[in-house]
Amino acid sequence: MNVDLTGKSALVTGSTRGIGRAIAEALAGCGARVGVVGRDAGRAAEAAAAISPHAVGFACDVADTGSVTALVESAERAFGGLDILVNNAGITRDNVLFRLKDDDWDAVLDANLRGAFASIRAAARGMMKRRWGRIINIASVVGLVGNKGQANYAASKAGLIGLTKSVAKELASRNVLANVVAPGFIETDMTAAMAPEARAALSQQIPLERLGTPGDIAGLVAFLASDHAAYITGQVFVVDGGMVM
Ligand code: NDP
Repeated sequence: MNVDLTGKSALVTGSTRGIGRAIAEALAGCGARVGVVGRDAGRAAEAAAAISPHAVGFACDVADTGSVTALVESAERAFGGLDILVNNAGITRDNVLFRLKDDDWDAVLDANLRGAFASIRAAARGMMKRRWGRIINIASVVGLVGNKGQANYAASKAGLIGLTKSVAKELASRNVLANVVAPGFIETDMTAAMAPEARAALSQQIPLERLGTPGDIAGLVAFLASDHAAYITGQVFVVDGGMVM
């Protein structure tokens, strides 16, 4: 089976590194023109140039609704429309409940959830008009099962799942599909800070006995963005080596 995205354009938030970068590479590898997004214009341009000659870098802080709306408009202008939106940018600000500050709550919810809402609202109009669209939101298994010290993060990822299902129902009649990919523990900067003992303990909870790679997530996202996934919407796909069953 060949995943062909020739002629499609995609915007991937948080794609200067990590999972988002692998997703941008996979979509570009399947023939899509890709918008690479990070907070810094230089880093975004550098990543875009490394990914594909047809990729374009955009600077945007997804926690800022106005910037997100402007980002979608810029991508639509650059590509002549937007077919695929991947909300991947995300942050953590972990602490146990009683030490979580309002700021920690707001920063995580603004970046992880409100940013996705704003980009979907902005991109959906064009997708509906063209009767084709793919929205893929990167949540986390933590949004399904919770995690000590991550009440804000878990709430943002659970919120993303509710947002996706609602959007899937609202937009289905226009052939705009929305799905969630929920990774387990993936080797990126986000997890690099873990102590070796913690990583070892974690791996023992994973039936496949290893942390995932960004590529483990990217292949599924490319499939969901393609015509092979034309009858799939409102679903949550867990990619975690079997950790949560
Ligand atoms: P990284 O921290 O490795 O990379 C985060 C990316 O998001 C970078 O490209 C960064 O770009 C960008 N970014 C961060 N904040 C913002 C912002 N406010 N506006 C725009 N871009 C932003 O993260 P991962 O690759 O590990 O995670 C990607 C997604 O996958 C996140 O949503 C995360 O919650 C989720 N996830 C990750 C897991 C893991 O184990 N790694 C597990 C489950 C889910 P720059 O610094 O250039 O701005």
